[in-house]
Amino acid sequence: MDKLTELKEQAISLSLYNTKDSIETLIHKAEQEEQTYTDFIANIFTGELKYRHDKAQARRVKDAGFPYPKYLKDFDLNFCRAISKKQFKQLSELTWIDGLYNLILSGPPGVGKTHLAIGLGYHACEEGYKVSYSTMQSLVQCLRTEEIDRRSRAKMNRIRKSNLLIIDEVGYLPINPTEGNLFFQLISELQEQTAIVITTNKGFEEWAEFLNDPALATAILDRLSYRCDRIKISGKSYRLENRKSFLNDGKDTSDETV
Ligand code: ADP
Ligand code: MG
Repeated sequence: MDKLTELKEQAISLSLYNTKDSIETLIHKAEQEEQTYTDFIANIFTGELKYRHDKAQARRVKDAGFPYPKYLKDFDLNFCRAISKKQFKQLSELTWIDGLYNLILSGPPGVGKTHLAIGLGYHACEEGYKVSYSTMQSLVQCLRTEEIDRRSRAKMNRIRKSNLLIIDEVGYLPINPTEGNLFFQLISELQEQTAIVITTNKGFEEWAEFLNDPALATAILDRLSYRCDRIKISGKSYRLENRKSFLNDGKDTSDETV
């Protein structure tokens, strides 16, 4: 076995996967730049640390279970007038996650609630936080079946260990009393350990209706609101305003008004 192959095998045994893949480049660069021994070793360690950091970040994003990627950098504040530049900066700094603050984003469809929620979640993953995303419907399904279904149990375990839980589309579908109670229990359980972002098309006064229980709605909102910011996003749907068509060179020539 030649020396390089042996080194690569040793790198695998030591779990130095970045070094294993880039050993030729590292050596070549060291020779070219006439690096000191110290710099050579520093380059190996830095490469390995970056590789591990990137891998852990990718794993956190995957485990979060986002339905699709959305980034804060693509969120257009000129379109979304409900959030000031200052508020957006404060949200992006993520200190509210450590402070266990909740965030309730409400408004009609297409105004960017999910985009903002996923964007914050994605950024939190980058910054090392453990994040879980779920729609309300899927969360309720998991709560109902966690005793009997291994996958639901795994998802709930993950949610309970998260620093940030995003619950998307709260209020779109009515939920029954058992589901409402399970949801209340979860919110109570998480309130001292997890920051929660909720997106909803309902105002607080409408929660009683979709939960079919005014007392339960008050109890849930009481817990969520204790440390909480509410952002009501009103205005037009981004989708409708930026509607795309593949006919007629992408120009929308329909005269329907929406
Ligand atoms: P909601 O969850 O409020 O129904 P979404 O977040 O799903 O709306 O937004 C609908 C689409 O419009 C998405 O593709 C999203 O990226 C885009 N969008 C909405 N608001 C903005 C915004 N302020 N800047 C950039 N894209 C936006
Ligand atoms: Mg949405």
